[in-house]
Amino acid sequence: MTSLSPDLAAVAEGTKGFLPPDEAEALLEAALQGPPGTWLEVGTYCGKSTVHLGSAARDRGAHLVTLDHHRGSEENQPGWEWHDASLVDPHTGRLETLPHLRHTLWDAGLDEVVSVVVGTTQQVGGWWATPLTLLFLDGNHTEEVAQHDYAAFARHLVPGGLLLVHDVFERPEDGGRPPWNVFQRALREGFQEVSATGSLRVLRRP
Ligand code: MG
Repeated sequence: MTSLSPDLAAVAEGTKGFLPPDEAEALLEAALQGPPGTWLEVGTYCGKSTVHLGSAARDRGAHLVTLDHHRGSEENQPGWEWHDASLVDPHTGRLETLPHLRHTLWDAGLDEVVSVVVGTTQQVGGWWATPLTLLFLDGNHTEEVAQHDYAAFARHLVPGGLLLVHDVFERPEDGGRPPWNVFQRALREGFQEVSATGSLRVLRRP
């Protein structure tokens, strides 16, 4: 069984997020197979998965970039099931997760392994040009944005690079379609499935 060091496990445990323990462990295990180079996480929120990816990146000699606009996805907005009122910034009246991420990375001692990019995936996808050896797609779950994020970033994955997709549910009654559709598209476009744990799918570009 693969797990975080006790210190990092405590930080991850105390960080808000939507990552069940079995999927967190699978994420870490997959990332520990990730080639050195540049890794990209799309959809940071408060950094729970970033701790797992960052820990593996340090182990593998990789550098992790984590990308988010930090104002929350649709399902995090007021009136939605996954809204957390304690994350609202009184200055803007909007959700603001960046300070939480900064605290998470500080507590985890991962500042040097992780670069934080603040922006929408549309903004960053427009200029991103760095080859990737690992990509974790866990951003906005609308069909439009999920497909955009795949199209914008998966094309930068080098042969042997890993594509991880979160919130993939085969049965519609278990969850939204967009991540499933992205997973199916990746298979059609030649990615090979490596493993599946809960809603986490791990694929590799041959
Ligand atoms: Mg997710």
